[in-house]
Amino acid sequence: MIAELIIIYIFIFIFGAVFGSFFNVCISRIPLKESLLTESHCPNCGKAIKYHNNIPIFSWLFLKGKCSDCGQPISITYFLVELITPLLFMFIFYVNGSRFSITFFSQIIFASFAIIIAFIDLKNQIIPDVLSIPLLFIGLIFGFLQNNINGLFESFIGGATGFLLFLIVSEFYSKVRKKEALGGGDIKIMAAIGAFSGWMGVLAITFLASVFALIILVMIKHDPEKHFPFGPFLVSASLFYLIGGRFLENLYMKFFDFIMTI
Ligand SMILES: [Zn+2]
Repeated sequence: MIAELIIIYIFIFIFGAVFGSFFNVCISRIPLKESLLTESHCPNCGKAIKYHNNIPIFSWLFLKGKCSDCGQPISITYFLVELITPLLFMFIFYVNGSRFSITFFSQIIFASFAIIIAFIDLKNQIIPDVLSIPLLFIGLIFGFLQNNINGLFESFIGGATGFLLFLIVSEFYSKVRKKEALGGGDIKIMAAIGAFSGWMGVLAITFLASVFALIILVMIKHDPEKHFPFGPFLVSASLFYLIGGRFLENLYMKFFDFIMTI
């Protein structure tokens, strides 16, 4: 039983690393509207990357973060995405009781979009509609799969809350401060997040994301008048709420079980 579980975790890690490698392709190509299906090439010299130099995680380490052809450095974000993705996938499997439940699949898909969106927003200061709009519909579908019409309704209310809350804040801010605080991308991604988290989640995630942003901006001494991408904070707060929430719930249940035994 334990041996089987270890094999499943190793499988999820490999699966996650391969997906992470594909997410890197999405992160660099979606903002440029390039095809996702053509061969991988060096962002610098454009030479095709040989298959033995395209092994997730290891190739970047083996090549010491440089292209094997031109020797130009390859961003560490490639390595980070290939590492974060499998670790997050394994953690999601763990918090869902090491079972392939509907919630597991819903969180895997959400986390995948979250990783791609966070890195695109960091690099390009945009959240493409081709990511946020499908994610909204996926959230509604999972709402239905989890709890039929009631679940769909909850997802819809969550999405609407996210959309309206950010629309109002954005309108208010641009009227009062005469500049844009939240972009259209932030409003759409918050609607998608709401479809997964429900309306209470929207409030908690908005609060968490603001706290995260405040801490980071103070730490890096960012000029508060200058623009910064809010997307990475929103998606990390969502992951924290959705997946971390489940983790705390499990911990609480285990603690409760423990209390009952003594
Ligand atoms: Zn190169």
